[in-house]
Amino acid sequence: MLLILHANTDQTSAPYQQLIQYLNKLPGVEHRIHDVQGSEQRLTEIYLIGNTSALNKDEIESFEVVERVIRISDEFRILGRHKDANRASGFDYQGLHFDQDTFHLFAGLCAVDNPDHVEQMMRVLQRNGQVCTRMGAYKPRTSPYAFQGHGKSCLPWVFDLAGKYGIRVIAMEVTHESHVEEINEALERTGRPTGVMLQIGTRNTQNFELLKAVGRQRTYPVLLKRGFGITLMESLNAAEYLASEGNSNVIFCLRGMKTDGGKPHRNMVDFAHVPVVKRLTRMPVCIDPSHSVGSRDRCPDGILDVAHVTAQGIVAGANMVLVDFHPHPEKALVDGPQALLLSELERYIEDIQLTREMYAKRVELWNRGDISA
Ligand code: PEP
Ligand code: MN
Repeated sequence: MLLILHANTDQTSAPYQQLIQYLNKLPGVEHRIHDVQGSEQRLTEIYLIGNTSALNKDEIESFEVVERVIRISDEFRILGRHKDANRASGFDYQGLHFDQDTFHLFAGLCAVDNPDHVEQMMRVLQRNGQVCTRMGAYKPRTSPYAFQGHGKSCLPWVFDLAGKYGIRVIAMEVTHESHVEEINEALERTGRPTGVMLQIGTRNTQNFELLKAVGRQRTYPVLLKRGFGITLMESLNAAEYLASEGNSNVIFCLRGMKTDGGKPHRNMVDFAHVPVVKRLTRMPVCIDPSHSVGSRDRCPDGILDVAHVTAQGIVAGANMVLVDFHPHPEKALVDGPQALLLSELERYIEDIQLTREMYAKRVELWNRGDISA
């Protein structure tokens, strides 16, 4: 059961304390308080766990601080929708808003290699009005002999360059909880010129201790990749781990599934699940066309497969695109074959705008009130 309190409820007030005393006395029921700080208001939700079936919804709703009570299913308690269309969703970070209606492009390097390439990337992003990017410093690699990323040593100059080019958020994978601390220290030392969205990669989707550690901090939002060999529900539960530890500023990223059925693409493109994730949860949904397709192959119509699948995800309502670019793909230390060229960014953005407009028109079409449901 979920109790949604009135916005900005004062947790030191007598009416709030009365509610807590009442909850403390419920037999076999534990409660967990979850605060969500938005740009304009603070929302408090209280989750009741345990033997809640006999509880009286009306009685709880009669408490002054309670706005409404929702019976929730076991699944995705915090991130789920639970048939309540009015549950607040989304979050603000670095002056940007992320929810199931917004759109953000995170184009950048799969792996940070040298300052010159990072600067070329950021300069082109700024020229194209972009304020987000992706920059991998900690790379989980199949082979222990492959380049593992520069790690914490590159963070100061990556963050400085981001500040110089007006980048507000960098998506950056962490593979161990110590990386969060390293990122935090480097941002602190450089005067926080930019922000970071912590990425949990597909190989770590069910690394529960990492999820718990990243979920315990609330400074940075999290981009969680879908596990490439597990069910969608299992991956959504992984997202719930983050939220259950306190951080519900989570974006869910589809990146393709590992199966020979997807060949010749690197992974089986799974963007048909964009609307499914939006229906089951309140998370914004990201697509990663680069790791899905894995190449710069092009259709005879002249369009790159990466651009085709990007359009497929966006036309279905994706809220974010995480995509690999590189000034010299042949020199990239990781995933060069799938990187788009900097000269292709402008056209790629124009293609995204076209597809976003198409999505908006589709939403309008299907919400026209002339067909009874
Ligand atoms: C990445 O985005 O660089 C990455 C390694 O992705 P994934 O975890 O989806 O393989
Ligand atoms: Mn990669």
